[in-house]
Amino acid sequence: MNQIDYLRISLIDRCNFRCSYCMPEGEELNYILRQELLTQGELLTLLKEVFIPLGFRKFRLTGGEPLLRPGVVDLIKTIASLPATADLAMTTNGFLLAQMAEELYHAGLRRINISLDSLDPKTFDLIIGNRGKSRWEQTWAGITAAHKVGFDPLKLNVVVIPGFNDGEVLALAALTIERNWHIRFIEFMPIGNHNLFGSCAWIPSEELRQQIRGKWGLIESAVRGNGPADVFKIPGAKGTLGFISQMSECFCDRCNRVRLSADGLLRPCLLNETGEIDLKTSLRSGVSTLELREMVRELLMIKPEINFKQRDAGTVTGVYTRTMSQIGG
Ligand code: SAM
Ligand code: SF4
Repeated sequence: MNQIDYLRISLIDRCNFRCSYCMPEGEELNYILRQELLTQGELLTLLKEVFIPLGFRKFRLTGGEPLLRPGVVDLIKTIASLPATADLAMTTNGFLLAQMAEELYHAGLRRINISLDSLDPKTFDLIIGNRGKSRWEQTWAGITAAHKVGFDPLKLNVVVIPGFNDGEVLALAALTIERNWHIRFIEFMPIGNHNLFGSCAWIPSEELRQQIRGKWGLIESAVRGNGPADVFKIPGAKGTLGFISQMSECFCDRCNRVRLSADGLLRPCLLNETGEIDLKTSLRSGVSTLELREMVRELLMIKPEINFKQRDAGTVTGVYTRTMSQIGG
């Protein structure tokens, strides 16, 4: 059985973007009420007394947009200083990074993934649901600020959406030629915007690799992360290209993670809604941390049975009641 030692922590379900594939416009999202969010104290109690004793060593802060969470810098300081923390990372849309990259780095954050679905401001704004002044420049400024401050490796996440940004695969891949950046192409998953998924579906990673191979060639990279990406490289490039292919090449067998939502639900599999346990309600109703640890231990035991591979990859029509922003992508 895989060692499950990686916890993705959603700090907040709200976001300053409204990406078409994640938070579909027009759909009422029932935001978590402030009093239902795990407090910083509760989160730290769960980390120190439940997850770390069970062997968790790697933590990723996500959301919604994690930089909107009040007190995020202090939280990073505290988690980074825990002796058990081997890896602390964040996934962000980058919009607030130009002003925050430096303090995040000083707080102890060393790894950051920034979502950037397009190099074209118009396409970018269309994808993130922005109708006002373009947000591309500030996002790009956030990426370059993170690079300058020293975040290494700097990873950019791209969800490839047919009809939106699938024509930009080569331009995005080209960013790795002169920069030591990691561009990760993510297959669009049927979670969040079911209408969009139904109308345009997803593109298998192998099709993207063929495009890149045809232009420059592609070699397997010696650099591997601890995540699900298959890592390649354009020959001679400084950076790498990762492909996250949960739809076409199910990687459930090597899954090492669970997810904690901002309101304290622990979810064993992103793409399967069964098995969630409510740690916050238990904690608030006086269940001891020893008992909570037992509940989590039991969930980890059955986690291999709760996965995505039971479904026919690519033909999934199952409806998920929570979006990525609510689960913590
Ligand atoms: N707001 C932050 C961001 O966008 O990076 C963190 C949260 S976001 C939910 C985490 C990641 O999930 C992003 O890289 C986003 O592109 C990805 N994501 C959201 N919905 C998705 C979907 N339906 N399929 C694939 N990836 C998705
Ligand atoms: Fe916000 Fe990230 Fe979802 Fe986009 S993908 S709406 S930035 S949470």
